[in-house]
Amino acid sequence: MVRAEGVHKRFGRNEVLKGIDLEIQPRQVCCIVGPSGSGKSTFLRCINHLDKIDGGRLWVDGQLVGYRQRGDKLHELRTSEVAAQRREIGMVFQQFNLFPHMTALENVMEAPIHVKRESRSAVRERSAKLLDRVGLADHSTKYPSQLSGGQQQRVAIARALAMEPKLMLFDEPTSALDPELVGEVLDVMRQLALDGMTMVVVTHEMSFAREVADLVVFMDAGVVVEAGKPDDVLTRPQHDRTRTFLQRVL
Ligand code: ADP
Ligand code: MG
Repeated sequence: MVRAEGVHKRFGRNEVLKGIDLEIQPRQVCCIVGPSGSGKSTFLRCINHLDKIDGGRLWVDGQLVGYRQRGDKLHELRTSEVAAQRREIGMVFQQFNLFPHMTALENVMEAPIHVKRESRSAVRERSAKLLDRVGLADHSTKYPSQLSGGQQQRVAIARALAMEPKLMLFDEPTSALDPELVGEVLDVMRQLALDGMTMVVVTHEMSFAREVADLVVFMDAGVVVEAGKPDDVLTRPQHDRTRTFLQRVL
């Protein structure tokens, strides 16, 4: 579902991704862990073409992200083509970014109606089901300000799912939450994983990674230091940098 080959990204002189190689199979959950500033968010944003890569290749579901290849040359896709690629990828951020003037249900309905131009009645039905799936059936008419952080983040997940993405990206989805609200969001993500969604999750929740991930990737300073099964990376890390990081967070 995701393949990165030698992905490079720099901001000015700051080389943030220094050749990322990674492969994520359909239905797999990949958790990316690593210290702050190591390039985790940038890598997620590259998968979505919110950041453009400067070197290497990146594919989602067999499609080159943001480019078309002719011979050896890459040509940038048109804005509409990039938008079409992005519609297939859901993203959930640390800050929930809900529309404050819309109810939970309206937040979930917004993109399918205005971006995909689906019929209001079909979208309403699907959105109500999604809110039920994230445990918020009774809160659909509430505004974000009337919901807890954990509830808002679950609305944000439902909103991303409403576009029926084939891949979900999560960038520290529980980092802004009070500790007692983290579990309810992780529960929703765990269920999503069980339902077979392909997910890339940047997280500091090591127990979630250990339990749910098929693949754990430890990034540091713009490189993948090691990647593998949760047990191998989190219990028997091969590299000092991984060990040092784990000692700090566990
Ligand atoms: P992480 O998510 O692992 O904490 P980031 O991907 O956010 O790391 O950042 C990696 C590096 O890239 C940091 O040094 C950060 O300052 C830099 N960076 C990220 N986004 C930008 C940007 N839009 N412009 C300039 N520098 C950026
Ligand atoms: Mg980040």
